[in-house]
Amino acid sequence: MKIVYGTILNPLSPLDLWYCEDGALVFDEKTGKILFVGEAKEAREDFPQAEKVDTPDNILITPSFVDAHLHAVQYKIIGTFEGVELLPWLQKFTWPEESKFAKSDYAEKVFQEFLHDLLRNGTTTAAVYSSIHENAVHALYDISQDKARLFIGNVLMDQNSPDYLLQKTDDAINVVERLAKKYKDRYVVTPRFAITCSMKLMKSVAAIARKYNCFIQTHLSENKEEVEFVRKLFPDCKNYTDVYYQAGLLGPKSIMGHAIYLSNQELELLRNTNTKIAHCPISNYELLSGRMTVERFLLMGVNFTLGTDIAGGHEISMLGVMRRFLDEHRYFAPIRPSQALYWGTLDGAEALGLQNVAGNLAYGKYADFLVLHKPKGAVNPDEYMEGLMAGDYDNIVAKTFFEGREVYSKQN
Ligand SMILES: [Zn+2]
Repeated sequence: MKIVYGTILNPLSPLDLWYCEDGALVFDEKTGKILFVGEAKEAREDFPQAEKVDTPDNILITPSFVDAHLHAVQYKIIGTFEGVELLPWLQKFTWPEESKFAKSDYAEKVFQEFLHDLLRNGTTTAAVYSSIHENAVHALYDISQDKARLFIGNVLMDQNSPDYLLQKTDDAINVVERLAKKYKDRYVVTPRFAITCSMKLMKSVAAIARKYNCFIQTHLSENKEEVEFVRKLFPDCKNYTDVYYQAGLLGPKSIMGHAIYLSNQELELLRNTNTKIAHCPISNYELLSGRMTVERFLLMGVNFTLGTDIAGGHEISMLGVMRRFLDEHRYFAPIRPSQALYWGTLDGAEALGLQNVAGNLAYGKYADFLVLHKPKGAVNPDEYMEGLMAGDYDNIVAKTFFEGREVYSKQN
């Protein structure tokens, strides 16, 4: 049994943050579960035998982050967007890089670096896109299994793709069936987006997702040129969202990235099917995609959570995403700094069906938490969060814990 002392910031809902200046967290490193969260004084009395975790002075304790949308196979091309929009960026930078993951040794090398960086930035749960290659999916599961809770899917591409990534429809379906059978609810059925997937492929893999209770992830309406392309490809569908609805890809276990150019009818369809959106504000800014109208989602009750969209976004820290999220919608949906933590933690856990086991700090949940250096001069939750989100992300996380195990510790 271990105990860590510090100031606790613990989101309970979009509006409520539980805060304790002189707090403590007690957890069982064998089960990985939390035994107590509350006042330090009470913890000292109730758990005198708990071993103290070695930490720097003046720390904050928060749940670790959840990233609902990122591409592990694009880790090496972070920062290549520079004024290029989505479709040319995919052709010029992304697809040539993803082709390299056919080789397992390359995949393993990049995934090691990727995972280290993820943990260094405090993210322990994520929904991850891999390349088309089956071997790369195995490699990422193997590398991450004791260190993070990754939901992983291989992208599907059976049309409008370069020859070196183009899959035969039946081959792609067979790969999905094998991986879904093996990894079940940790596997994510991942049609890349409607441009690269035939209706036959999308319908077939949607059925496999239902059979094995898998999550589904894809991109929806990120860029105007993309939307126009999809309209021409699927003339029988009412709109982009309807393409996925017709394919059977919408539902409570589906996470759609971006969702920028949507009509009210499309938002209504997403809400009625209880589909989740992964909002990636840094990527939307850097690929010049546009602003997701968050206020419409809030008003209509469409669920959304946050993602980095590495490498459309350059920032792997969810603190950076939260910062951009607050700034971008400042005049449309004002959100307090202390509320931002919910969107980067518990909200993402809810999107992945983990709200009863992770996402915030509570008795019986997994001890997924961060030891963070307390920002200088800050004295209340809004100021703490302002300080954390202000930048210098490389120096904020002192330790990352996943299921009660220390998976990252900053070396001084
Ligand atoms: Zn993406």
